[in-house]
Amino acid sequence: MKKILFECAGTDIKSNIKALQRLLDQIEFPYKKGATVGLKLHWGEIGNLYFLSEKYAAVIVQWLKKNEVKPFIFDTTVLYSGGRRTGVDSLMTAYEHGYTPQNMGCPVVIGDGIGGMDVVKIKSGFFHFKDTVEVGSIINQAQGFIIFSHFKGHLGSGFGGAIKNLSMGFASRAQKQLMHSDAHPELNRSKCIRCGMCIDICPEKAVSWNENKFPIFDLDKCIGCAHCIAICPVAALKVFWRISHEAFQERLVETAAAVWNVIKNKSILINALINISSECDCMKGKNSIIADDVGFISGYDPFEIDAESLRLIGSEVFDRAHPDIPWRSQFEYAVKIGMADKNILNVIP
Ligand code: SF4
Ligand code: SF4
Repeated sequence: MKKILFECAGTDIKSNIKALQRLLDQIEFPYKKGATVGLKLHWGEIGNLYFLSEKYAAVIVQWLKKNEVKPFIFDTTVLYSGGRRTGVDSLMTAYEHGYTPQNMGCPVVIGDGIGGMDVVKIKSGFFHFKDTVEVGSIINQAQGFIIFSHFKGHLGSGFGGAIKNLSMGFASRAQKQLMHSDAHPELNRSKCIRCGMCIDICPEKAVSWNENKFPIFDLDKCIGCAHCIAICPVAALKVFWRISHEAFQERLVETAAAVWNVIKNKSILINALINISSECDCMKGKNSIIADDVGFISGYDPFEIDAESLRLIGSEVFDRAHPDIPWRSQFEYAVKIGMADKNILNVIP
């Protein structure tokens, strides 16, 4: 089995960059000269404060170029309106966040096309997705991948790292919707202070006032993005899963597994355990930093690298940030479907 590597974070961005460079220097370079290699990352939603600086991706691009391959950077379009729904919007957001071709030294592209329709079906064969899952066609257009993931909390999955970057990160919009389809907000009226923030933030205009001035949610319009839940200042909203809490975790894992089965022989994974915020880089506005910077970790299996990331950070911070999310079931399910060894369950605190 190939090794998981780790380098401790520094005290500022300069020393963090050095830590990343030290990590890269130790990685066995897996790509052939001249290969086209896609660097999959998340360049942050407009208004998010904790997405990764483009300087880290630039270091990885330099390493790839030094080793004579042809890198490019990509992400896919998303479900909700905002700064990344279409390819054009998403590229503008990337540029605004520093991910320009000039800063990167390589092309910056959209993995499912400018209209989000450049997609392919790949084999799945699992319980929720029996035959196929749908992902950006980029999966068939590179000879290698680096899955570069910002490790942080997440409202739906408890934590977000390599598993989520492979899953939501490669999924077409339709596949993203299939993964989210059971999740909708549920209001606790006794907590609601009627501030209207959920109405303002909803990208689908699915929230409005009822006659008593409480928010009501149009579930036909709702896409389950959970932005309203994240922004509510008094935690009056929680995720209501129509089937079970575990269904989202399992669908996430199935999609990640299908993607990984296609690219595992030509990919490496790097998790950045820095800016460890309570919420995803998709969320606008201020959420909290829940743990100190830890460093950078690389590996060759998404479940192993995420389990090790949780061990290094300490899983209690994710339990505290998202007490209702059964995130451990991602690993249990990965074992169940044969994507991870059962020993992985001992790694997770
Ligand atoms: S954001 Fe929360 S407190 Fe404000 S109106 Fe919506 S549910 Fe009520
Ligand atoms: S989860 Fe909330 S913010 Fe997202 S679409 Fe549904 S109602 Fe709107």
